[in-house]
Amino acid sequence: MESALDTALGQLRRAVEQLSLSENEWQTLSTPRRILEVAVPLRRDNGNVEMYKGFRVQYSTTRGPSKGGVRFHPDIDMDETVALAMLMTWKCALTNLPYGGAKGGIAVDPSTLSAAENERLTRRYTSEILPIIGPERDIPAPDVGTDERNMAWMMDTYSVNAGYSVPGVVTGKPIVLGGSLGRTSATGDGVAISTREALLVKGINPEGAKVAIQGFGKVGYWTAVGLEKMGLKVIAVSDVNGGVTGFKSVEDLWTHFKSQGNLDIPGSDRLTNEELLALDVDVLIPAALADSITAHTAPSIKAKIVVEGANAPTTPEGDHILNDKGILVVPDILANAGGVIVSYFEWVQDKQNYFWNADEVRSNLESLMMKSIREVESLSHEKKSTWRESAHMLGVSRVAEAHKLRGLYP
Ligand code: NAD
Repeated sequence: MESALDTALGQLRRAVEQLSLSENEWQTLSTPRRILEVAVPLRRDNGNVEMYKGFRVQYSTTRGPSKGGVRFHPDIDMDETVALAMLMTWKCALTNLPYGGAKGGIAVDPSTLSAAENERLTRRYTSEILPIIGPERDIPAPDVGTDERNMAWMMDTYSVNAGYSVPGVVTGKPIVLGGSLGRTSATGDGVAISTREALLVKGINPEGAKVAIQGFGKVGYWTAVGLEKMGLKVIAVSDVNGGVTGFKSVEDLWTHFKSQGNLDIPGSDRLTNEELLALDVDVLIPAALADSITAHTAPSIKAKIVVEGANAPTTPEGDHILNDKGILVVPDILANAGGVIVSYFEWVQDKQNYFWNADEVRSNLESLMMKSIREVESLSHEKKSTWRESAHMLGVSRVAEAHKLRGLYP
């Protein structure tokens, strides 16, 4: 299987060809600006000291400060971080946010850490990458394995070193520290909006449409909540331990999950993650990790639409199979852009020290998502390209244009 970086470079190569950009432009666009690898020592609660690898990649700063999540996951490495930082670059340009793209993280399984260990690890990682982050430089946010607690510790570590409060250094913070209303649900809200619009494009009534979601974390859960509010039926969800179907409502399942730590709610049926992918639904939403739709799993997919809540959930072979089957794929850089859009709102509010109400956040999110969805849809009509190709063309062309206008120093 191709690596995440090979896949991302392949998508960029295709966009560069479709846009007839030059070889020089390809070289500029395919090269990350800054890569930092740090050692993160952690004193465990029992006194032992362990070393972890930490990463931060600033893929592009051409259109503004770089922006991207911090992932705590044992499998994360530098190549994957570069790939995810590249995707962030095209995502921010596609949605017209004044940002470049970044990503970072630590190769650690957060479930093995106590809260105190997680805090020490987060603070030490922040201090190691401190020279290159900041509200005007690079603004981290939560991703897989991190949440608003980690953002609070990152904000505090940065602020203690600056000597004053700097809320704009991270987004996805708790509200009382300068977070934005609506940020927690933003990625899922955006995935839900993308799903509704894709159904309408396909001529399917969203009311009652059936959905299966892989992943029941921050993105999967809030997507499910958003879709139920819109009248769709979430018939199955899964997490790393497998899936479940036959539950009454997402809220019921969430309450059980929060209290019991599993999806085995009484009255429901278990299924494997592979069985979930193959369910007879209108929409399939991968919202867990990369590479879940592959040459092996794509042939059995029956959904009419795939909406990529996760980053890079589909391999190139999987993508070909979905396209050949006529399945509409709403690509990650469009479908899950709601998170970075509301992160941008949070950063703007922090800069102005003026905070919006929930309706303002929600209606501004809806309008930026709708603009990007319409642009992607109309370019794919015009060029007879897939939504993924169109989204990449829009994002890549805006970064290329910004490069050209800024020129080369010295
Ligand atoms: P999370 O850690 O909150 O949740 C991840 C979920 O995936 C969990 O339910 C976990 O059990 C499940 N999972 C892990 N491995 C799995 C497997 N092999 N099979 C099935 N399920 C599995 O992470 P998240 O923030 O929800 O992120 C999910 C995806 O969405 C990632 O690709 C992330 O990069 C992307 N994303 C997140 C945000 C955000 O704002 N959090 C924004 C854009 C994109």
